[in-house]
Amino acid sequence: MKRLIILGAPGSGKGSQCKWITKDYNVPHISTGDIFRKNISEGTELGKKAKEYMDKGALVPDELVIDLLTSRLDEPDCVENGFLLDGFPRTLSQAEALSNYLTSKGIQIDRVINIDVDDEEIMSRALNRRTCSNPECKEIYNMRDNPPKVEGICDKCGAPLFIRDDDNEETVANRLRVYHEQTEPLIKYYEELGVLRTVKGQQEFADTVALVKEAI
Ligand code: ADP
Ligand code: ZN
Repeated sequence: MKRLIILGAPGSGKGSQCKWITKDYNVPHISTGDIFRKNISEGTELGKKAKEYMDKGALVPDELVIDLLTSRLDEPDCVENGFLLDGFPRTLSQAEALSNYLTSKGIQIDRVINIDVDDEEIMSRALNRRTCSNPECKEIYNMRDNPPKVEGICDKCGAPLFIRDDDNEETVANRLRVYHEQTEPLIKYYEELGVLRTVKGQQEFADTVALVKEAI
């Protein structure tokens, strides 16, 4: 049973790390970005509201995020196995709301992993990112470092790859700015709680995996 948070700028490779962490530690992977994208594709009210913000690279307002997340943590899989939070918390007030929630349940975060990658590298990765359109798969490719065998097709499941609406230069630059302003302060917040470990993102995926394993 582990309760984990993964922090890092958008495009730092958090999502790829989450894939193996969720398997190895048998914890549900809870990505607020994925939850919003699912709502958008299903055309829900929440999805419609969230999309306006996401397409601009802005954060979805806290009141739309916090209840959504805490009610997800109340589900039995999280209660029994712990969780891996990806994309939440993203602001100090979300972190505080999460702390209050955890305290009210008498539980704590075991580890916060901060993946550290510089902005220039993130921009290059985001513009080269392709995502599998199959919601059961969601494999991530990179046209520069890790292209699919057949262009535009997922190696794993054969579904078409797509470029996320928010993976364009303007939106990425905006997301990075928002990250530095709103999310970076969480590093200090969790450092002070004594649960933070920073891992430098490596060029090779496997090297980052090894460092994250050590840190958990
Ligand atoms: P990335 O994979 O690039 O880090 P995510 O998939 O986590 O991005 O999130 C995509 C978008 O969803 C964000 O830019 C933001 O608009 C919205 N979002 C996701 N999580 C949160 C959150 N905790 N608070 C506010 N907005 C969020
Ligand atoms: Zn796929």
